[in-house]
Amino acid sequence: MDLVIRGRKVVLPDSIGPCSIHVRDGVIDSVRDYDDVSDARELIDAGDAVVMAGLVDTHVHVNAPGRTEWEGFETATRAASAGGVTTLVDMPLNSIPATTTLAAFQTKLDEAVDKCFVDVGFWGGVVPGNTRELAAMREAGVVGFKCFLVPSGVDEFQDVSEEHLREALPELARLDALLIVHAELPGPIGCCSADGFASDYSTFLASRPREAENQAVELMIRLSREFGARVHIVHLSSSDAVALLREAHSDGVAITAETCPHYLHFAAEEIPAGATEFKCCPPIRERENRERLWQALAEGTIDMIVSDHSPCPGGMKLRESGDFLAAWGGIASLQLRLPVVWTEARERGFSLRDVAKWLCENPARQVRLESRKGSIAAGCDADVVIWNPDREFVVDAAALQHRHKLTPYHGETLHGVVEKTFLRGRKIYDGGTVSPPTGMLI
Ligand SMILES: [Zn+2]
Repeated sequence: MDLVIRGRKVVLPDSIGPCSIHVRDGVIDSVRDYDDVSDARELIDAGDAVVMAGLVDTHVHVNAPGRTEWEGFETATRAASAGGVTTLVDMPLNSIPATTTLAAFQTKLDEAVDKCFVDVGFWGGVVPGNTRELAAMREAGVVGFKCFLVPSGVDEFQDVSEEHLREALPELARLDALLIVHAELPGPIGCCSADGFASDYSTFLASRPREAENQAVELMIRLSREFGARVHIVHLSSSDAVALLREAHSDGVAITAETCPHYLHFAAEEIPAGATEFKCCPPIRERENRERLWQALAEGTIDMIVSDHSPCPGGMKLRESGDFLAAWGGIASLQLRLPVVWTEARERGFSLRDVAKWLCENPARQVRLESRKGSIAAGCDADVVIWNPDREFVVDAAALQHRHKLTPYHGETLHGVVEKTFLRGRKIYDGGTVSPPTGMLI
């Protein structure tokens, strides 16, 4: 074997315990007893650290080409590597061009090639009028398509109405392509007048009510059922929508949902005035809402946690005026998803198995990469993260690898330190050192 990684706490699909992972040509050849390591050319012994599949993050805004100054493939995938993420999937918007045509997808691939420290996949976009592009993009390899039901924040990625979706969904169903949806409807947002100081978080929160999400989820359940199309709700924040999803699941509707670390860690009541680094849409809601999101994860109604890493140049966050209404919405967290989720999960009695399911297995399944990614099992790529669940650290934004350092996690005390990351059997991160890029486009 080229490499054997062993440890006392290896997180396998059905258990956690001592074993050894045997790697040949970048792929896991077999998982064997802890002591069965005699054929190892190189042996890595993780001791009591956790050995888990590399994380899969299917919601990342890399913003390149066109807005590379916001992030870019090099910095985003460096941050991923340092955060134990071995596969990320890039969102179709904020780059120019947006990934809404085959030609634009090709431009994106040209931009990403040779720059990536981890494996990278791509979402395409559904925008008004591009139904005829979807088959070609799918054929060329996008993992699925994203749409917005409210303005996205950038002009080149227009939102869709129910009428547009009625045109696109039969085609998506025919292609068996997943539609992922930014689920807020403009109606309930338009009804809310933003009274109060723009620097108060409560003013912003009131401007993006739960009802906007609830109605959007209701619409997508109805359309998924009608067209037999697979639908996924991105960054669910309103816990009121959980009951709708639960009922849809019991009716056999093919709809899934994700939430994000910031909705599970922060609470609206604790966000200081003017702290626009906390702004994202839909917004971080109340403490009580956060606890109900955790319950939805426990029961499986929400099946994954992805970062929605969405950075921008610091100036666009308007930190000086602290204007929540005018600031760019988006939270930078690609490198921190594992420790944020683990810190909160361990306090609530969840296990490392739960964490692997939410951060690795289910995101891989969402984009149909589960035979290669997200699990420590024979036949999967040897993507592995070794991390210490007991070590505590204080987040220093300046030490993070992504381009613009402003993040609401600065100064937070978290549990879980990534020690080493392996991509297809090759060590790509080791205690602060990132190796040259070997990521592939998938
Ligand atoms: Zn996003």
